[in-house]
Amino acid sequence: MEPLRSLILAAADNDVIRRVVATAPGSRQIVARFVAGESVADALEVVHTITADGRRATLDYLGEYTSDPELAERTVRTYLRLLDELAERRLAESVEVSVKLSALTVDGDEVLASRNLGLICEAAADCGTTVTVDMEDHTTTDATLRAVRKARRTWPWVGAVVQSYLRRTESDVATLAYEGSRVRLCKGAYAEPAEVAFTDAHAVDLSYVRCANSLLAGGAYAMFATHDPRLVNVLRQRTRWYGRRQGSYEYQMLYGIRPDEQRRLAAEGETVRVYVPFGEHWYGYLMRRLAERPANLALFLRALVSR
Ligand code: FAD
Repeated sequence: MEPLRSLILAAADNDVIRRVVATAPGSRQIVARFVAGESVADALEVVHTITADGRRATLDYLGEYTSDPELAERTVRTYLRLLDELAERRLAESVEVSVKLSALTVDGDEVLASRNLGLICEAAADCGTTVTVDMEDHTTTDATLRAVRKARRTWPWVGAVVQSYLRRTESDVATLAYEGSRVRLCKGAYAEPAEVAFTDAHAVDLSYVRCANSLLAGGAYAMFATHDPRLVNVLRQRTRWYGRRQGSYEYQMLYGIRPDEQRRLAAEGETVRVYVPFGEHWYGYLMRRLAERPANLALFLRALVSR
């Protein structure tokens, strides 16, 4: 992994840097580019704009690993309130939710994670939408896939996420690539060691294409999460090669990244879903976006010192 990317990802876990960034005068301005706001109302306002031009959305209440039961409970309550609002505003057809298991539980407790995921899935089913379970660092992959498999026994539409940078992912995809299985394919956003992950960007891309082929061949509902123009071109060819009609797969991009490309794909009839994060705990999410694109880091550092 490039040294700058490793450095930024290390800063994502550093409390002192976290405090400096959170209180710096210009940080809000750059946060607003990638995060919809802090409240449910802020998030709903953003998804109204997105759905107005034919794109879809998946809403993520920001939060990661916690040891605080109150915080985990608050996360679950926020999702339940969000789902009520989606139903009330008739947005459930085009807006789903994404969850991180580590934010729904306490110290990685798998039983509690599954119970809380179940509460969110039940509410999503009532309101007529779906849930996708984000993938976190490689130490959590097995537990996350176990929780998805368990939830799918009741709610077969629960979305799984796989990361093409992990060496194991092709074999995970082989078990997930069946008809009706909703699978988000992304490159992966965490600092992972070479024993478990490809470190060469080209190897990550090749793995992405192999996984995409497997999902398309197996009949899964593939959710291609990438902003990479070369990959999007390859995917457009592959979906045709496998005879997939538009709507039997989708493209996903993050809020604030390549919005013109999102609209262009949607205008061509593709299903495009925007991942919209919101909430007070935006720091880890923002650092991962900065690590992906050092040009954004320069923008961020300028914003930090300006008033
Ligand atoms: P990259 O190689 O990073 O970028 C390719 C090109 O895209 C760049 O050259 C640039 O043109 C553009 N671009 C990329 N990033 C930026 C940016 N920040 N600002 C401006 N332009 C940019 N990761 C996980 O580990 N777990 C998840 O559950 C997960 N869910 C995701 C959900 C969605 C909808 C998306 C889009 C990504 C998700 N990710 C997740 C993040 C993902 O793994 C990558 O870290 C991220 O998408 C960057 O990879 P890329 O495919 O866009 O390609």
